[in-house]
Amino acid sequence: MAEKKRFQAIKGTRDLLPPDTELWNRVEQTAREVFGTFGFGEIRPPIFEPTELFARSIGVDTDVVSKEMYSFFDRPIDLAPPHTFYDTGRYIKGLKDLLARGEIPNDEKNREIIQQLSERWEEFEKLPPDQPLEGEAKASLFRILGFRDRVRLGPEITLRPEATASVCRAYIEHGMHAWPQPVKLYYLGPMFRRERPQKGRYRQFYQIGAEVLETVQPGQGGAKDISKDAAVDAEVIEMVMAFFASLGLEGVQLEINSIGHAADNCRRGYVKNLQAALEKVKDKLGPDSQRRIETNPLRVLDSKLESEQAIIAGLPKISEQLCDDCEKEYAEVKRQLELRGAKYTENWRLVRGLDYYMRTTFEITAKGLGSQNAVCGGGRYDGLVELLGGLPTKGIGFAIGEDRLILSLQEAGKGGAAAGRDVFVAWMGERAQAAASAATQRLRAAGFRVELPPVEQKFGKALGQADKLGARYALILGEDEVATGQWTVKTLANGSQAKMSEAEFLEKLKNEVRK
Ligand code: ATP
Ligand code: MG
Repeated sequence: MAEKKRFQAIKGTRDLLPPDTELWNRVEQTAREVFGTFGFGEIRPPIFEPTELFARSIGVDTDVVSKEMYSFFDRPIDLAPPHTFYDTGRYIKGLKDLLARGEIPNDEKNREIIQQLSERWEEFEKLPPDQPLEGEAKASLFRILGFRDRVRLGPEITLRPEATASVCRAYIEHGMHAWPQPVKLYYLGPMFRRERPQKGRYRQFYQIGAEVLETVQPGQGGAKDISKDAAVDAEVIEMVMAFFASLGLEGVQLEINSIGHAADNCRRGYVKNLQAALEKVKDKLGPDSQRRIETNPLRVLDSKLESEQAIIAGLPKISEQLCDDCEKEYAEVKRQLELRGAKYTENWRLVRGLDYYMRTTFEITAKGLGSQNAVCGGGRYDGLVELLGGLPTKGIGFAIGEDRLILSLQEAGKGGAAAGRDVFVAWMGERAQAAASAATQRLRAAGFRVELPPVEQKFGKALGQADKLGARYALILGEDEVATGQWTVKTLANGSQAKMSEAEFLEKLKNEVRK
């Protein structure tokens, strides 16, 4: 008999259950409604994409790409893995066929590995049969297993750690540059990152995000667009704030910054100065920051290390070195936020480490989340679509951490209540069952939440259960009620009871449940 085993959700993943899921649904419904009023449409990209897409767009130096992604090699559907070691011959033949048909990656490395595997297998087959697997036979077996494991059976795939890359990929793939511009899309769904699970940090977590993409037309773009870009940035931020406001999220704080653009007279010049300043204080920095002086100096500004805070405060600031256009855009973004009534503070340490990020960056924090208090991050990324093989296209977007948003709402007592029932139908007798099920159908069709016990219960027991389920009314249907068409309705909160027709009961529900 199979061992009795209890399964548990994998570390960093969790089941979302009622009544919590009621709040999740309300949050998602509100997002759809609010984003809809700003003219955004929903995109649902796949959950997995080629690893290369994320590596390129997020950057191989980042924590996300270097250690947090869930990646695996895909495999062809019609090649069963070897059942036993002696089945390897069949497997190799299958590999060769698929290689020839290009159904597994046909590159030099894979061809070489399969060739080696095939030769080692031929050697093994020449060994006298029935001998014990030791000595040369054992060594040969391990060589074969080694090569067998290294064959790449398909392209490398990754569970998405974020969705901006997918949206840009889809923009290119579906020729959205020919759609009315700008293209405004939102998405919601799970993302996957291998992180240390803690409050507000999971391995499967949920984001709600949006992107505005606009392909630059010939003769357009550049300095002329400054006020237009700034207005788009401000509207995107306004939309997130409107969403949070309609949820009643508390302690919302918006921080903004401009990170200029990748040019010598702008961010590149600044990064050089920053690097020089960091070299001077190198000894006082921790190992992570020391390493980043070389690889990604901007990221030092991100550091949460207590001992580095005073040093970072004394570093040069990017605002002192923005080029004229970036400075103008930043000033315009601030003006645009003010005229939309969005309160912000400036945070010069808010940065993004990749070249295609430019100008506006922002982050929003909320109450009740401890150190994981960022609920939204966003920014402008004008170079990304082109980096992924598309036309020069402007982009700005954000991603909200839905798990943290929900936590903050729950901490503030805005969680969903237990679902409850509007009506519990207590019936007794065969004739009553038919009447009860017909009544239930009509009440449900009118939109009320109705519980109909599958078997007959004594009225006392039925009323007890109605109470436990948090039902508002018990509809009592016995032989009497069926015969007269007058229903007995009990209000569970105060125990009062009244006789009424079905039409009267429906009217009562409409008045008292839906108010
Ligand atoms: P953090 O600094 O908290 O790791 P991040 O910079 O990695 O955040 P982004 O990639 O900008 O986060 O994602 C946007 C939002 O998604 C974050 O502000 C946060 O609310 C949420 N988020 C990111 N990673 C996780 C996670 N592992 N679990 C839950 N929420 C997350
Ligand atoms: Mg992170």
